[in-house]
Amino acid sequence: APFQQRPARMTPMLEQYFYWKNKYPDCVLFFRMGDFFECFFDDAKLVSRELDIALTARDANKNMPMAGVPHHAVDQYAARLIEKGYKIAVCEQMTPPDGRTLVDREVVKILTPGTFIPEEGTVDSSLASLLLEQDQWTVGFLTPSASTVQVGTFSPQEAWSVLLSFAPREILIPRGRGSREKIEAHPGWSYSEMSAEDFDPEIGLARLCRLWNVNSLEGFGLRRGDPRIGAVSALVSYAEETSFSKAAHIRSISQILPEGFMHLDWHTQNNLDLWGGEASLFECMNECATPFGKKLLRDWIARPLCSIEKINERLDSVQELYGHEDASRSLADLLEKCRDVERAIARLHMKSANPRDLGAIRDTLDVHPEIDAALGEMCRSAALPDPGELAELRARLDRFLLPELPRSLSLGAIAAPGCDEELDQWRSLGDSGDAWLEDFAEREKKRLGIAKLKVGYNKVYGFYIEISRAKAENTEIPPEYVRKQTLVNAERYISPELKEYEERRLQADSKIAEIEQRIFDELTAACLERTDAIQRLGHALSELDVLNSFARTARERGYCRPEVVEERVLEIREGRHPMVERALRGQPCIPNDLKMDLTRRTAIVTGPNMAGKSTYLRMAAILQIMAQAGSYVPAASARLPLTDRLFTRIGARDELARGNSTFMVEMMETANILHNVTARSEVILDEIGRGTSTYDGMSIAWSVVEYLHNLCGVQPFVLFATHYHELTDLEKTMPGLFNLSMDVEETDEGVRFLHKIQPGPADRSYGIEVARIAGLPRVVLKRAHEILERLEAEQSESHGDPNRFAPSAQVNMFDLSGDAFIEEVASLEPDRMTPRDALDQLYRLVSQA
Ligand code: ADP
Repeated sequence: APFQQRPARMTPMLEQYFYWKNKYPDCVLFFRMGDFFECFFDDAKLVSRELDIALTARDANKNMPMAGVPHHAVDQYAARLIEKGYKIAVCEQMTPPDGRTLVDREVVKILTPGTFIPEEGTVDSSLASLLLEQDQWTVGFLTPSASTVQVGTFSPQEAWSVLLSFAPREILIPRGRGSREKIEAHPGWSYSEMSAEDFDPEIGLARLCRLWNVNSLEGFGLRRGDPRIGAVSALVSYAEETSFSKAAHIRSISQILPEGFMHLDWHTQNNLDLWGGEASLFECMNECATPFGKKLLRDWIARPLCSIEKINERLDSVQELYGHEDASRSLADLLEKCRDVERAIARLHMKSANPRDLGAIRDTLDVHPEIDAALGEMCRSAALPDPGELAELRARLDRFLLPELPRSLSLGAIAAPGCDEELDQWRSLGDSGDAWLEDFAEREKKRLGIAKLKVGYNKVYGFYIEISRAKAENTEIPPEYVRKQTLVNAERYISPELKEYEERRLQADSKIAEIEQRIFDELTAACLERTDAIQRLGHALSELDVLNSFARTARERGYCRPEVVEERVLEIREGRHPMVERALRGQPCIPNDLKMDLTRRTAIVTGPNMAGKSTYLRMAAILQIMAQAGSYVPAASARLPLTDRLFTRIGARDELARGNSTFMVEMMETANILHNVTARSEVILDEIGRGTSTYDGMSIAWSVVEYLHNLCGVQPFVLFATHYHELTDLEKTMPGLFNLSMDVEETDEGVRFLHKIQPGPADRSYGIEVARIAGLPRVVLKRAHEILERLEAEQSESHGDPNRFAPSAQVNMFDLSGDAFIEEVASLEPDRMTPRDALDQLYRLVSQA
C-alpha cells in the first residue's frame, strides 16, 4: 500500500521514509521528527483510529495524512498498539537536527507482541516457536523478561495443549513446510514467519554456543541435530533481530518435560475454572503482593509439580511462613516494595530500558537486606542471594540516583546531587544562573527606567528581554539591543551580555545531559554485570511471594497441609471446594470425605440435579492441583496420591459456537482421556453421554466406565457422576467400583439438598420430588409416581433377577466374548478422524453391539 501512496514529487525526507517503510513493510513505522514520532499515510490512519489520536496532514493539500505521539511517551502508545497485535518499527534520529541538512535516521528496534517488554503490568508478552515434523512437534517458549527458554518435543495433540497453556502472544514458524496452514486453522493465534535456516539445528547450535560461550548444548540435555535446538535458536535470533542487540540475558534452556509436571490439558483447565474471573481457582488462591508473584502463581497452577520431593520443599516453606505469622505479614509488606527486576534487567539488555528500570532495581535492592532479615532461618527453598553479593551495586545505585526518576532521560534529572562533582558545578551554574537573570533584569529595569521590563526564555528564540510596545516606542532602546521578535503588544530583544549568558547556559544544559547520559550508561553496565545475581533475586522474590500467598490463604481460611504420597491411596477428610466456599461467603460449605484406593478406584456418584455432585467431583480435582502446586488445601486432612495427569470431562458447555456439536466435543474429549490415561491418572467424568439419546448415552457411559475400570491396562482413579441410575448396579460386577450419592432430606415441603456425600446409590424417586419443588401440578406428579412404579415392576419381572446387569447381561449388550469389539474400538484413531468419521464409526459400533 505505501507504494501506491508514494507522492509524485519526493523530498529527501520522504525518500528516507519510504526506504525504511519498504524495509519493514509489515510494521507500523514510527518515524522520529524532533520531539515526536510521526506516522504517515495508512500508518497514520491506523494509529489515529487505534489510539484515538488526532489525524493531521503534513502538506497543505492534505495528501499526506500524519499522526504522531510525543517521543517520551512512545512506550505507552506502542504498548497499546502491540496489545492489538500490531508490530512497530521504531525509526530514530541518529544525528541531532541542525535545521539545514537531512537528519540521519535508522530503525533501531522492532516491537512485536511476542518480544515487547512492557514497563509494568501483570501479563508479559511471550513468544513461542513451533517446528513441525510428521508426528513430532517441537515447541519453544520465551518470556522476554525471563532468563530461560523452555522447549519440548511432543505429539501434535500434546503440543497444542502445551501451547494453549503457555498462551503465547506470537508464534514463530519456518516459512514453507505447511506450518502456516496449521496455525491458520486456529484463528486468534498471531504468527511471524522466519526463514527455514533460523530453525536449522546445525546453524542454531553454532549460534547458541557462541552466545553462551560453550562447546556444546549437552549440558542442557540437547545433542547435535535435536530439533529443540532449532526451536530455541529461532527464539533467540528473533529476540536479537527485533532488538538489534545481543540477547545476553537469556542464560539457559529448560525442558518442558511432561514427566516433571502434572499434565493438565486445556479442557481440564477450562472445566475446572482455573482461570478468568472472580470465581476462578487463580483468583481464589491469589494473595500475592506483587505482579511478578502473580505471574509465577499462574505458572504453578498451570503446571503442578510431579515430584514428591519438590512438592514437599514448597510445602515446607509454606509451613514455616504459616507458623511465623508476623514474619509472614512483614514479608508481604516488604515484597510490595519490590519491583520486577527480572523484567528490568531484560529491558536493560534489550536496550529498551529507561531510568525507571534502574529505579526498579535500586528499590528492590534497598529492601533485599530487610527481606533477608525477616526470613531469618526460614524458607531454605527460596534461594535468595546473599545481600552482600549485591551490596556494592546497591550502594552505587543509592548514591547516584534521585529518589523519583523520569520515564525518559530527556524528561528530567536522574543523578543525585553530590554523586558527580562536575555535574554539581554545571548544575549550580544553572541555579546561580537563575539568580543572575533576576539580577540582570533588575539592572536593566533601572538603567532603562522601565519597571515592567521582563527577561524570559522561549524554546525557539532563546533568552530575550521583553518591553511593551508602548514603552518601546517612547523609550530610547540601547544601541546594543538587537530586536529578535515582534509581538502584538511587545518587542523582544537580545543584548550581548544576555547572549553570552545564554551560551554559557546552553553549554551547561548540554554538559548536564551528557553527564547524566554517562551516569545512566555506567549504572546500566554495573547492573548488567550483576545480571545473574539480579535474576536469581527476582526469581527468589517471586517464589517467596507465591509461597507467602499460600501461607496467607492457608491461615485465613483454615486450610491444612496435604500429604502427597507415592502409594495409590486418596483420603480427604472434610474437604471443601475452595471456590464454592468463597462464593458462599459465610454460609457453610458442607465438608465431604472421599476415600479411594486400588480396591475402591472407581466411584459412581448419583443423586438428583443440584444435589452437589459436580461440586464434589471438582473438589477432589482442585485439591489435587493445589497440593501438587505446593499449597495447603481446604480440608481437615488430605492424603493424596502423586498424580501425573488429571482429566476431566465436565457438563455440556456451549461448544456449539465452535461448530462442533456438543456430543461430538464430548466424545472427542472422552477419546482423548481413554487414549492417554496412565496408572497415576485421576479422571473426573461428569454426566457423560448426556448429549445423545438415553440408550446411546447410557451405553457409552457404561462402556467408558468399563474400559477405565477393566480394560485400559492401568488402574486410574475415576470419579463418575451420572444420572443413569442403571450404572449403580455395576458395583455388583466390578470389584473396584463403589457407589456414592448425595444425601437429600425429605421434609413436608419437599426435598432439601444436604450436599453431603454418603455411601451407596441414590434413591431414584427423588427426580419426581425435585419436580414437585419445581411446582409441577399434583395430578402430574401423582401420575409420574404411578408410571415409575409400573416401569420398575415391569423391569424386575422381565429380567427376573435384580442382577440384570450382571456379566451375562453385559455380554448381551456388547458382545465382548471374542474381544473383537474391543479390538475394533482400540484400533480407532480419534486424532486422525474428522468429526463426521467419528460419528459414522460410532453408529457402526453401536449397531454391532
Ligand atoms: P449437581 O452436579 O448435583 O447438579 P452442583 O454440584 O452443581 O450439583 O451443586 C449445585 C449447587 O449446590 C452449587 O451451585 C452450590 O452452590 C451448592 N453446593 C454444592 N455442594 C455444596 C457444598 N458441599 N456445600 C454448600 N453448597 C454446595
